[in-house]
This record gives sequence, C-alpha cells and structure tokens, in this order.
Amino acid sequence: MLYAEPEMSTKTDHPIQISAAAITDSAAGADEHGAASGVTPAAGTLFGLDAAALAVRMKALHEPAFRARQLAEAMYRQRVADLSEVSTLPKALRQRLAAEGWQVGRPIISQVFQSSDGTERYLVASQGGEAQTVEAVWMPEGDGGESGDGSETEAIETVSGTGMEEQPQILRSAQDDSISLKESVSSRLKATICVSSQVGCAVNCQFCLTARLGLQRNLTAGEIAGQVVAILDRQGVDVGRDRLNLVFMGMGEPFLNYDNFMAAVRLLVQEVGLSPRRMTVSTSGILPGIERFAQEPADLRPKLAISLNAPNDAVRSQIMPINRKWPIAALLDAVGQIPLRPRERITFEYVLLGEVTDRPAHAAEVARLLRRSGLPAKVNLIAWNPGPGVAYSTPQPESVERFRQTLIDAGIPAYLRKPRGRDIYAACGQLKRTVESAPL
Ligand code: SAH
Ligand code: SF4
Repeated sequence: MLYAEPEMSTKTDHPIQISAAAITDSAAGADEHGAASGVTPAAGTLFGLDAAALAVRMKALHEPAFRARQLAEAMYRQRVADLSEVSTLPKALRQRLAAEGWQVGRPIISQVFQSSDGTERYLVASQGGEAQTVEAVWMPEGDGGESGDGSETEAIETVSGTGMEEQPQILRSAQDDSISLKESVSSRLKATICVSSQVGCAVNCQFCLTARLGLQRNLTAGEIAGQVVAILDRQGVDVGRDRLNLVFMGMGEPFLNYDNFMAAVRLLVQEVGLSPRRMTVSTSGILPGIERFAQEPADLRPKLAISLNAPNDAVRSQIMPINRKWPIAALLDAVGQIPLRPRERITFEYVLLGEVTDRPAHAAEVARLLRRSGLPAKVNLIAWNPGPGVAYSTPQPESVERFRQTLIDAGIPAYLRKPRGRDIYAACGQLKRTVESAPL
C-alpha cells in the first residue's frame, strides 16, 4: 500500500510509554505560527487574524479601521481566497498589501477522496510554506443525526427537535443559478465537518492510526479555521441557513494545542458565523485543558466529548497511556466543573475493541461509572475502525448492540456512530495522511 509515510504503516510495535515531554511542550500552547489571540502570525498571512489583529495591521498602514472589517468580511464570510478579489478594498490598497508581501494565505484542499457513502476526505495544505498536509472530512447528513458528531444538537438542545427527520439535499453551490429560489429555500443542507488540530498526535492511544505519526507540529488558529472555511467554500455552504455541525475530532489532540484551538473557535464563531452549540471538541482527557475549557464563556464554548473508551483505569491505562497521568476519576471531576448550558450533555466516546472493551461486564461498569458521576452524560459507541499495523479487532455486531442496550437500560442515552468513509480511510482513528483510497 502506498502511504504518505510508508514506514509508519508497517510499524507494529506498541510502545505504551507516553512522552511527558511531548505533552508538556505542546501543552504550552500556541507555537510561533499562532495567529489570533495576540500570537504572531506567519509572516504575510492574513487568514487567521481576527478583526482586532487586522485592525492593528491596517493602522500600521495608516488605513482606517473599517478596512480591517472589510477584509475580515471578505476572508471569513465571502470566503475570498485571493487579495486581488477583495473588491471592497481600493485597488491601490490591495496592490500595496500584495507588494508588502501580504496574502490571504488560506489553507488549500490539495487532494480529495470521495467515499461511496458521500463522505469526502481532504488533504489540506498550508500556504505558509509548511510541507505537511492535515486531514479534514466532510460528512453529508452527519452520521445519522443522533450519533455524536455534533449533529444531535437539535435533539438534545432544542425544544422541538424537528429537523432530525429532514432529508438532506445537497447543494453543490448555493449560488448555482440552476437551483430555483423555491428549492434553495426549502432544502437546507445538513452536514458535519471534522477538522484536525495538530499534525499527528503525541498521545499514543494504542488503537489509533494517527498516534503512529507521533506529534509533528501544532496547527495555527488560521490552519484550523482554514480547513473549515475551505470546505464551506467547496461545498457552497450557506452558513446562515444550512445545518452545519463541526467536530474537532480529526488528527491531533485539541487540548494539547489549546490556545490555537480556542483562537480558531473564536474566529469561527465571531468572524465566520458558526454557532459553538453546533461544535463539539473531543479530548482524550487532558486535564489542564479541561480546566481551562471550563472557564470559557458559554457563547464561545463548543460542546465537549471525552474519549472514555474503557470501563475502568486498568483497561484504560493499557489502551490509553495518558490515563496514567490523568485517571478517570480526576477527569470526571474536572468535567463536573464545566458550567453547562440548558439541556447540554457531555458526550463520552467509547471505542469498542473486540474482547478488550466490548464485554457485557464492561458495559455494566460504564453504566455504573457514569451514573455515579452524576453528569448529564450520553455515550457514543464507535466500533473500532481497523488500520494497518494496529492489532485489535472490530467487535461483533451483537456485542455492540448488547453494549448499547445495557447503557440504555441503565438510563444512559447511547448511540452507535456509523463509520463514515471507511473505504477512503476517513473514519475515526483512520486519519493518517493516507494518500491511498483503496477499501480496507
Ligand atoms: N484526539 C482527540 C480527538 C480525535 S480522535 C480524542 O482522542 O478524543 C476522535 C475519536 O476517534 C476519539 O474518541 C477516539 O477514541 C476515536 N478513535 C481513535 N482511533 C479510532 C479507531 N481506530 N476506530 C474508532 N475510533 C477511533
Ligand atoms: Fe491522539 Fe485522539 Fe488518536 Fe488518542 S485517539 S492518539 S488523542 S488522535
């Protein structure tokens, strides 16, 4: 098989020591390429700067502050990817910015893999001279509407919860003249975008393909938000109308790149116009990140998903070495400190590994654990997606269903996340910058 990193695909050893240094280094937050939040951007790149940072640049050019607003509007709302096309700015100013080396610099989709189920997986390249690509995924219809990709928002958080049954109709371009006004009003696209927060990951979960890359680097706020904007643009999403969910569940551990991750959220909420209630960030349980997250204002805080993945510390430490540093009780305690919005629940993701985490006794233990926690919890079960060189097995469908039923019987909402785009390596835990799209 042809992979971006062939040596990675054949690696079969499972080192279970997590590098504390790697975690501490990346936990330090934004790297030198950070963008919004007062962190210096990659020279010449405008995408990723928030309105305040753009205003500083404009002031330095002796331009009025409203020029910054116009630029933000063009990059984040109109999704203009080239300075020369920012028609609201005077031509002379565009030329001057370009002459001084400024460019929009939004990340670009460099490769597309299309799945038979409508999922698209993208390799996204930065324009700041970084060679590595990251992965992002587009899932029309979410994954069934209730399975924790963020698309359950309506069911859990609104009174009516209607749109769940709506059949999505995909508009390739909202501006497409061939779509009549009547059609475009009645058909709201429904989809989920999944983005990466790091190139690779330092956390070393034993069942995850991304872990095999190790941590290559943190993404900047612009690189994280840029994946979203590039996909919105490709899919012709109308942010004000369409039902779009966003999950930070791609490559990497968002809470080990906290500053850039949250700066990206602020850009996406304040500049792009997405709702944080339709965003879900998933963490393997980085305690300092959860504590910071608890302090974020409600109007800027995505929902939280915790990758629980095991019924107790013994099993969890085996498959997620990070558990030795921050065990389950400490995690649940920290999660309990988050002031939740009305009807908001904490999602617990649970990867079912055949025989390792999918037994009836495990299900009963998870139910007890979550009930005792007193948290408003729901569980998203994910049947393990295979990857080369990762020695686990997918659970039997009967044990998946039995597991789910045990949780439901205990009063815990439990859903099975449909694997999306397995044939193009786009499913959970399969993101590894794979350049092949052959079926597994
Ligand atoms: N690093 C974050 C977010 C990215 S991983 C985290 O771990 O939470 C997103 C989800 O995919 C996690 O819940 C993780 O447990 C799950 N996952 C990882 N590898 C998987 C695999 N091979 N099959 C199914 N789910 C997997
Ligand atoms: Fe990193 Fe998440 Fe994969 Fe664990 S499951 S290695 S935290 S991406």
